[in-house]
Amino acid sequence: MFDSSVIELSKSALHRNLRFLQKAVGAEVLISSVIKGNAYGHGIDPFVPLAESCGLRHFSVFDASEAYRVRQCQTNPSTQVMIMGFADSDGLAWSVEHGVSFYVFDIARLEEVRELARRIGVPAHIHLELETGMNRTGIRDADLLRATQYILRNQDCLRLEGVCTHFAGAETVANYKRVQDQTAEFQRMCDKITAEGLAIPLRHSASSAAALTYPETRMDMVRIGIAQYGFWPSKETEMQHLLGNDPDYRKHYIDPLRRVLRWSSRVMHIASVEAGQFVGYGTMYMTPRPQKVATIPVGYSHGFRRSLSNLGRVLIRGKRANVVGVVNMSMIQVDVTSIPSVEVGDEAVIIGKQKKARISVGSFSDMANLLNYEMLVRLPTDIRRVVVN
Ligand SMILES: *Cc1c(COP(=O)(O)O)cnc(C)c1O
Repeated sequence: MFDSSVIELSKSALHRNLRFLQKAVGAEVLISSVIKGNAYGHGIDPFVPLAESCGLRHFSVFDASEAYRVRQCQTNPSTQVMIMGFADSDGLAWSVEHGVSFYVFDIARLEEVRELARRIGVPAHIHLELETGMNRTGIRDADLLRATQYILRNQDCLRLEGVCTHFAGAETVANYKRVQDQTAEFQRMCDKITAEGLAIPLRHSASSAAALTYPETRMDMVRIGIAQYGFWPSKETEMQHLLGNDPDYRKHYIDPLRRVLRWSSRVMHIASVEAGQFVGYGTMYMTPRPQKVATIPVGYSHGFRRSLSNLGRVLIRGKRANVVGVVNMSMIQVDVTSIPSVEVGDEAVIIGKQKKARISVGSFSDMANLLNYEMLVRLPTDIRRVVVN
């Protein structure tokens, strides 16, 4: 209630993105919706039911606390959750009890999970993460046979749901060789597992960038984060997609991805300022001529970075209005001199479209020197999220 700004999540945009992605990866490939980082800032609580209503049934999270939140807000009992990263013993026990699957990336965890599952009396659903060249988490080749045999011997407690790996950056051709090598290593290690007689129900390796640029990485399931929210993992991925799919792109390129998120506030006050006056704190901005300056109740406490002082922009009545002076804790001031009939109460868009104009997270984050990914997850959790059509 009484919010100074609101974040809208567009159902039609998500629907469209998922249609595009499913078509791109192939109908038989399962899409797991990656919702770590509070669903990339969109908010796990509103996003999961929204995604379910668009047909998604598989979600990937980083840790057990995110998995817990999915279990709280999911609307479909058959929705599956997979933890790709951290869970301590309590988190693992909770996961086993609640049918949440998780990555296992070393022998010690495998043994611990077997004990937990035995004690709880339900099998654990595990994804064996393989180390293929990222050198982060993952079972190394030297331990693979042991892990495989251990799972085979303990099938009553350990159900292998999948085998997976993660690429060390598929969003730039600079890593082309590394992705190729990792893919080959992954295949080889999977063959080693199946040769022992252990079947692999789901193989998965691709994030958005890999799924869109390296078809051989799609396998049985893709873990899609950024692209479902309507962002390309990088400019390069977008260019590659466009060049590979539409030789005539110059004539009629339409971005197949739509931003799901839109952040807006309202004009709370308009001041007429004479020429030669400083606006706001200090001396950062002086009016070069008589100007109309509107106040918007969004500031750095809401994630509108202070480094956007004199640089940021918002949209009012479909026109860009530049931030003048410093970003305050709870407010910014913007120049609305050239927006004729601007009034208190007018919508001010911070990220998203208004009429034909748009402020992308990209330009917002370029200015703030942040990656889309980082900018999105920094959106404060306490701004209200609403789902729109
Ligand atoms: C974040 C993440 C993804 C999704 O990456 P995007 O680039 O957002 O699609 C996939 N897999 C793992 C292991 C991740 O951590």
